[in-house]
Amino acid sequence: MTTINVAGVTVDTRHFINGERVASDETFTNTSPIDASPLGEISRGGQREVDLAVAAARAAFPGWAATSPHDRAAIMHKIADLVEERVSDLANVETMDNGALLRSHLRGVMPRVAHNFRFFADYLVNDLGHPDFETRGHNNHVSWDPSGVAALITPWNAPLMLATWKIAPALAAGDTVVLKPAEWTPLTASLFADITAEAGLPAGVFNVVQGYGKEAGAALVAHPDLSRISFTGSVPTAKSIARAAADNLTPCSFELGGKSPCIVLGDADLELAATLAVEQYDNAGQVCLSGTRILVHEDIADAFAEAFKAKVATLRQGDPRDIETDIGPQVHRVHFERIKGFVDRAKDGGANIVFGGAPNAELGGLYFAPTLVKNPEVDSEIVTQEVFGPVLTMQTFRTDEEVVGMANGTEFGLAAIVVSGNRDHADAIAKQLVAGTIWVNCFFVRDLRAPFGGSKKSGVGREGGTWSFDFYADVKNTVFSPNGWKE
Ligand code: NAD
Repeated sequence: MTTINVAGVTVDTRHFINGERVASDETFTNTSPIDASPLGEISRGGQREVDLAVAAARAAFPGWAATSPHDRAAIMHKIADLVEERVSDLANVETMDNGALLRSHLRGVMPRVAHNFRFFADYLVNDLGHPDFETRGHNNHVSWDPSGVAALITPWNAPLMLATWKIAPALAAGDTVVLKPAEWTPLTASLFADITAEAGLPAGVFNVVQGYGKEAGAALVAHPDLSRISFTGSVPTAKSIARAAADNLTPCSFELGGKSPCIVLGDADLELAATLAVEQYDNAGQVCLSGTRILVHEDIADAFAEAFKAKVATLRQGDPRDIETDIGPQVHRVHFERIKGFVDRAKDGGANIVFGGAPNAELGGLYFAPTLVKNPEVDSEIVTQEVFGPVLTMQTFRTDEEVVGMANGTEFGLAAIVVSGNRDHADAIAKQLVAGTIWVNCFFVRDLRAPFGGSKKSGVGREGGTWSFDFYADVKNTVFSPNGWKE
């Protein structure tokens, strides 16, 4: 069977290579986290499919690179138009595939997918580049030239959204693309491939190879004909990609995990602090940026905990297709067991579980209850390692110096949240934090003009605005002398 029906939408289960559908002899089973029901058999790619896709992208590169920025931007706006037309289909299929809330997909995520294309199309045409500048009468002109074939490897927690943070700037930069979506959530990449063809993107400019990381993913990142590798996922996978890329010196961009602090200073507005803390359960805790370590000043810790607990009690956990649901299931049985393992070991070590701490008994399946672990050992794994589930820890501090040390005390540096009633106080703390993004009295505000990425083990490089073009393009400086001109 080459197509399946998911939520009333027809999805092709084959790869998308050189503008055509290509099947593999082998398949893997895709299941829905909502109720473990099988969604279908998906073509399982490996070296053969990767070779075909990279060859197609390589062949399509000169034509796409020569397309003018205006023409590239026009096709990207057409892609955005089609995404907007199909928000409902994309949202429903994504929810079936990864279990994230339909409400969020409809209202926020899928419209943002369209915005990603409009933003990078407009940025290419209107904003890219510094004005030329002079050196002793010589004129420097900087240009962002297409670099070749970009391999994009993406995770399952926001499958289409995170893929398009890469696809849109890569296409805008004039690169051609081979995407390897996560094996637990391949479906919206396939729907998106249909959209690119319909929008008039030439064959071979965008390709999708499905399959497991150790097969399709590993074959792709080791390919010698790539100009760039952009990866979002876990630290161990990034290390193995970096090793594979080293043989060809392929430049890599890594967006990795986090263990971000949510710092509640003694002068914070408690209501706001509790609201922001609850948001850290978004997407059932499967958000790389989540401020999973709540660090609260001891003077307000009890009052904060009460306000927080009361808000969490109002959350509705259940079927993510229900618009009233606030927390859905975890993405996959394997991941669910990993989260449960973290919590069980914390309990065995004597951790104080304030609420949750177990699967949701009423719902069963892959629904893990929102959990708060109070005062765990500072160097325990629940404090230092990424759980990537609805599991927060709460620790107290006395001084600014102490909380900065705690906040910076993991190997990660993706984001941090600071809640304070005093701007100077918040600013003084923010300046000392090692993280790519600091949100002060807010969370998840993301402007594509801003740099996004992680410090320490949370990543290499930045995405957004010019930073994306700097990565995907070959940046070139041409120096014009004032001398030697005949006219
Ligand atoms: P993962 O590393 O297991 O997999 C990510 C992707 O890499 C998948 O497509 C997978 O098939 C592929 N892959 C696995 N092994 C590979 C290999 N050897 N070679 C090439 N590709 C391979 O990560 P995951 O579990 O899918 O995602 C969760 C992780 O992603 C978390 O750590 C999370 O924090 C992180 N994440 C980071 C960001 C960010 O922007 N910083 C955003 C979302 C998720």
